[in-house]
Amino acid sequence: MKIDLSPLQTDILVAGGGPAGISCALAAARCGAKVTLCQDRPVLGGNASSEVRMHIVGANGMSEGIPLQCEAREGGIVEEIRLNQCVRNPQRSASMMDLGLYDLCRQEPNLTLMLNTMVTSADVKDGRIQKVVAERLSTNDRFEIAANIFVDCTGDGTLGFAAGANYSMGREAQAEYSESLALETADRKTLGSTLLFQARQHPGPMPFSPPSWARKFSAESLKHRPFGQPGSDLNLEYGFWWLEWGGELDTIKDNEVIRDELLAALMGVWDFIKNHSDVDAENWALEWCGFLPGKRESRRLHGLHMLSEQDLMQSRAFPDSIATGGWPIDTHPPGGIDAIDEPPCTQSPLPYLFDIPLSSCLSKDFENLMYAGRNLSATHIAFASTRVMATCSAVGQGVGTAAAYAIQKEKDPQSLPSDADATFRIRQQLLRDDAMLLGCQNEDPRDLAPKATVTASSEQPEGPATAVIDGWTRSLRSPSVDRSKSPIGAPPDRFPEATHRWMSDPALGLPAWIALSWNEPITIGIIALVFDTGMHRLLTLSMADGYTGRMLWGRPQPETIRDYAIEANVEGQWITIHSEQSNYQRKQVHPFKNPIETSSIRFQIFNTNGIDHARLFEIRVYPPDVCDPFLP
Ligand SMILES: Cc1cc2nc3c(=O)[nH]c(=O)nc-3n(C[C@H](O)[C@H](O)[C@H](O)COP(=O)(O)OP(=O)(O)OC[C@H]3O[C@@H](n4cnc5c(N)ncnc54)[C@H](O)[C@@H]3O)c2cc1C
Repeated sequence: MKIDLSPLQTDILVAGGGPAGISCALAAARCGAKVTLCQDRPVLGGNASSEVRMHIVGANGMSEGIPLQCEAREGGIVEEIRLNQCVRNPQRSASMMDLGLYDLCRQEPNLTLMLNTMVTSADVKDGRIQKVVAERLSTNDRFEIAANIFVDCTGDGTLGFAAGANYSMGREAQAEYSESLALETADRKTLGSTLLFQARQHPGPMPFSPPSWARKFSAESLKHRPFGQPGSDLNLEYGFWWLEWGGELDTIKDNEVIRDELLAALMGVWDFIKNHSDVDAENWALEWCGFLPGKRESRRLHGLHMLSEQDLMQSRAFPDSIATGGWPIDTHPPGGIDAIDEPPCTQSPLPYLFDIPLSSCLSKDFENLMYAGRNLSATHIAFASTRVMATCSAVGQGVGTAAAYAIQKEKDPQSLPSDADATFRIRQQLLRDDAMLLGCQNEDPRDLAPKATVTASSEQPEGPATAVIDGWTRSLRSPSVDRSKSPIGAPPDRFPEATHRWMSDPALGLPAWIALSWNEPITIGIIALVFDTGMHRLLTLSMADGYTGRMLWGRPQPETIRDYAIEANVEGQWITIHSEQSNYQRKQVHPFKNPIETSSIRFQIFNTNGIDHARLFEIRVYPPDVCDPFLP
């Protein structure tokens, strides 16, 4: 076969378009870098795509937070994706998730998306990756892509591996990182892979005959696997995450064997449910089953810092933190479905949310290699928490932002964690893009809003108007250290206790207004707003009916301001400079082509998406010359 070879050049090459890679590529591109994203599959999303269909969870875990007190759902790009799916995909179509992710990437002018393109090798010289080779066999093409920075978001660490970076695969021994949850002796075993399925209920009986190669299961062999109980565990419409196997093999090298065995197990479990159990599944039939094993664990690349159990359990504060995690340490028996006497997972809760440092995303072997997602530099135990997709996405956004900063300032990524000035600027930009960072508040000196006097038509004692300029955009109060009894929050010394939002008085109804006034006239180029999207609530596209039933799916979140207008006072008259209808997003940025000179602006709130008063976390006001994302 004749393959055409084409050279390409970009600032940042991102390999892998799963939750980590998409957020990384979008963040870097939105911060002004030229980005190429290579994704080996025809669709984006990795384990969240229609090819695998896992639901995205994150720092807030599986339980509700507390309204106005404990709101640990991630912000930033993953929140944008979740809200888009919630409102625009009420039917919960897995393919509409693929389309939504594709749409986000396609809309970004600085981002070149290359689907069906697999990064296969890397050229290394003088401690740097010079270029990678990426193959698109469907068009008989091979690309040599040169870049200044390379980010491995392949999940398998394929780019780092191809370059010769150090990595781990398997479980560390307790003594290596003083991890109480680790094994006494290290081994090569990992979490296994899973094939999900979806079934649908029909009006009449739907017989099922298993193929000859299906495995056989019994009530005894599934005694620790939840299924067939009334409520969410029936899950026939969604499949079973515990249909897991392959952790005792090599989840990369043996992937084809693992797929075949998982299909045999899936057919066997379905045969047992349909034909041999007392589950009322007579009218149920398989609608879809995965053919691409959802991979939980493979290579973990070694970074400047190896995140470990202690970092998570002590919620260690890292000055170069770029993301926040909080999912419990969630280990599974490598034998998966064959480990019949063990529960399919053991979840050790964490006392508090924890920092994920940039130094765990930077190769120690190559100056210009970064990582995000499953292949992060973490021990098996720490990874058992960081692997969930909203956390992978938050890390991806952090890495993409740091990479764009390095490009703009012509620095090597490896130098960033020890450069306090650089980490301050990267973290400030992440906050501006709505990331959740512990102990970090808006200190952007270009923002004119904190210099204003704030007044409002009304306010509540717990929601003063001045909260819109206090620099914090959520509440993360930790109700208790005992996580088995309460939702997860920030360590008390790392997040001031308040609602951090303006709330108008419901007794006075809507419209309501909030205004910012300055002693001297200012010139406005950009106004940025952060709304309340009920971040105490669970929110994710899920094929599971029971889980979705715990969310407000298929509609905007009721706390969010829907219709509003921004007015500027010009020569004593209030002039509308922007109006917005049908908002459901948390973050809105309004740039003004013609800068506005004024000494006061006012926000008229006409309607919310449900509640009886206005809520607003943050108003930022920038002069026209602040197109550059990073502080000068
Ligand atoms: C069955 C199962 C259940 C899980 N349960 C949950 C859950 O409930 N919620 C949750 O949030 N997380 C869950 N996880 C974990 C989570 O899905 C993963 O840890 C997460 O998807 C990791 O994101 P990622 O972007 O790092 O990797 P991935 O999602 O694996 O994405 C990597 C992408 O890179 C692409 N790629 C790979 N190699 C190359 C290459 N060489 N060139 C170009 N592209 C490449 C892949 O096709 C893939 O699309 C589960 C995982 C599994 C398998």
